[in-house]
Amino acid sequence: MEAAVPQLNALGLKIADRIRETGPLSVADFMAVCLGDPDLGYYMRRDPLGLSGDFVTAPEVSQMFGELVGLWLIEVWEAAGRPKPFALVELGPGRGTLMRDALRAARVRPEFLAAAKLHLVEISPVLRARQREQLASVGEVPTWHHRLATVPKMPVLVVANEFFDALPIRQFVRAGGEWRERVVGLDTAGRLAFGIGPGGLIEPDVPAVAAGAEEGAILEVSPASTAVMAEIAHRIRENGTAALVIDYGYARTALGDTLQSVRRHAYVDPLADPGEVDLTAHVNFEALARTARSEGAAVFGPMEQGPFLLSLGLVERAGRLGAGRDTALQNEIRAAVERLAGPDEMGTLFKVLAVTAPGLTPPPFGPRT
Ligand code: SAH
Repeated sequence: MEAAVPQLNALGLKIADRIRETGPLSVADFMAVCLGDPDLGYYMRRDPLGLSGDFVTAPEVSQMFGELVGLWLIEVWEAAGRPKPFALVELGPGRGTLMRDALRAARVRPEFLAAAKLHLVEISPVLRARQREQLASVGEVPTWHHRLATVPKMPVLVVANEFFDALPIRQFVRAGGEWRERVVGLDTAGRLAFGIGPGGLIEPDVPAVAAGAEEGAILEVSPASTAVMAEIAHRIRENGTAALVIDYGYARTALGDTLQSVRRHAYVDPLADPGEVDLTAHVNFEALARTARSEGAAVFGPMEQGPFLLSLGLVERAGRLGAGRDTALQNEIRAAVERLAGPDEMGTLFKVLAVTAPGLTPPPFGPRT
C-alpha cells in the first residue's frame, strides 16, 4: 500500500494549482499568499493575538508598553515644534491596543491629541473591526488604509510594532558557487516542498557578510520592507517628524534561515498548513537603517527593547500602576516588566529603531549614529 499523502488544505490546493500553472513560488510570494490571500490568508480571517490565539505581542502583555510609546510620541512631537495637524500613523495595529493605551496616556497633552489625525494601515478586516472598538473606547475614529501610500502627505509620526516581521522575505541559497532563489514547489507526492529555483534569477545586493558563504547558506532580503521604510523616510524628510519601529530581529546583516511559523505559541512547519499558521521572518535592522539614511532621514539605534523601555521609565510606570493595589496585581505588573524588558524574554531579541527628520534627537537616544 502507498503511504498516505497528507491532504493539502484549501489554500494549499490553491497554491499547488498556481505552482502547476506558473512554476514554484519565491518564498516572498509564498508568504504574501499565506498571510494576505483575500479569501484564505492568515490575517484575513482571524484575530491571531492573545493567549487564546497564536502569539502575544508587547502591547497585549501590558498597557505600560503603549503608554510609554505614547509619551515617546508626545516628546518627539514637541521636539519637532508641535506640528498641527500631523498624521499619527500605525502600521499593522493588531487589536488597536498599543494605540488605545498611547492615546490614553497622551491625555496629559490635549494639544497633541487635538493636532493628531489618526491613520491606520491594516489589511485584515477582522482586526480593523477590533481596532474600531478599542479606539472608540478612547473617543477616536481612525481612517484605515491598505498601504501607507494613501495616507495624506503632512508631518507624520509612525509607529510599527511587530509589523515588519510580517512582510515577505526572499531567500537565496548558496548553491554551486551562486546565490540561487529558494522556492516553494511540489515534491513527487504532491506536497509543498522547498527547492532551489532555476539559475538566472535576479541576485540580491550581496552584503559583505555573504562573501565566502558555505554551500547551503541562506541569505534573506526583504524588498517589501525596504519599500515601506523608504516611503516612511521619504515622508519624514519631506514633511517632518519621526517613526518608531519595534520588532524582533538582528542589528547586523547575517546569514541564516529565519522564516518561522507559529501556531498556539509553538513553532510549526511553515509549509504544513498554509494560511492557518502565522508566518514571519526576523527583521534586518541594518537594512532598514540603511534605507532610511539613503532617503535622507536620521537614524537612531537599533537599541534593545529592554534598555529602551527602562530608559523611558518602565519601572517608575510599573511602580505607579501598582501603588496601593493588591499583591496579586503587583506581581502581575512585575511579571509584565520582566516579560517586556528581561534579557531572556523580549528585552534583547526585540529591537527599537527610531527614524527622524535631520536635527531631531528622539528619547532616549544619544548622539546620532
Ligand atoms: N502591532 C500589533 C499587531 C502585530 S501582528 C501588536 O503589536 O499587537 C501584525 C499586524 O500587521 C496585524 O495587524 C496584521 O493584520 C498586520 N499586517 C500584516 N501584513 C500587513 C500588510 N502587508 N499591510 C498592512 N498590515 C499588515
